[in-house]
Amino acid sequence: MLAEVVGGQLHPDAAADAQTADRTSLVNPDADADADAGELGGPLTVGPVSGLEQLDRLVTVDQKPIGRTPRSNLATYTGLFDAVRKEFAATDEARARGFGAGRFSFNVAGGRCETCQGEGFVAVELLFLPGSYGPCPECHGSRYNPETLEVTYRGKNVAEVLGLTVNAAAGFLAGVPAAARSLKTLREVGLGYLRLGQPATELSGGEAQRIKLATELQRAQRGHSLYLLDEPTTGLHPADVELLMAQLHRLVDAGNTVVVVEHEMDVVAAAGWVIDLGPAGGDAGGRIVATGTPAVVARSTKSRTAPYLAAALQAGPRHEKTMNITS
Ligand SMILES: [Zn+2]
Repeated sequence: MLAEVVGGQLHPDAAADAQTADRTSLVNPDADADADAGELGGPLTVGPVSGLEQLDRLVTVDQKPIGRTPRSNLATYTGLFDAVRKEFAATDEARARGFGAGRFSFNVAGGRCETCQGEGFVAVELLFLPGSYGPCPECHGSRYNPETLEVTYRGKNVAEVLGLTVNAAAGFLAGVPAAARSLKTLREVGLGYLRLGQPATELSGGEAQRIKLATELQRAQRGHSLYLLDEPTTGLHPADVELLMAQLHRLVDAGNTVVVVEHEMDVVAAAGWVIDLGPAGGDAGGRIVATGTPAVVARSTKSRTAPYLAAALQAGPRHEKTMNITS
């Protein structure tokens, strides 16, 4: 919802019918504490939004898949596979055969397996059962034709490189700056265990979201961007929550604003400003119960979150408080 409002203001040409009316400003932290924050699923009414001249870019880092077929994976999404394909094309073996970088793509004809068209999987029709995917009988899931797989880079063919985890690839591709940069940010958001070629269809919403965040982090930081994240800690190991927080703080330190919807109290405790929505979840929520710094919200008698936030604050904030968070 916030994304629609801010996006509409930042790009008025593309604005939907989101802005009008005379209600509470969604980005004004001093808004009336009892104001209705908008009915879920109902028409959106938003008052004047101020301060947008401070922003020049809106980035929604959501949990939608990075692709809907096995053809998409983190290597293609982050762009690191472009660098890998160039390295393969630059080998003596590839040059002797006249193989360019496109030969090492599984998305175009040439180097890929044509039986599965580079997906590595084929649709399997099962009698009496819904269809599903099975490994390709021709390339056995490697996605490539045998001639392409004969070319190796530092002892591995392109399918084997796609089979590496992010952690393993960080060592293997350390000498390829464009790939190394992507791999570093992927590790920083706690995704070192994923395989480069792991199909998008196998990734959780939280993993997809962190791939998007990593892709954003690897870009040159210009500041003045507003990042919106919806529960980025979902499914994350506690140790990785800290990693993620460090990355969000990096965005803030670079002059950006980060707004996070979150229930994880360690994240809320590390925010610069908290907007507590309640009093309960779903249809029973949607009102601003308390706003302020984490310490102020933790003392609120109206907030059901307050005791948990107080406990998290007492356990010790692990980071500087510089983010805006709603819970
Ligand atoms: Zn195949």
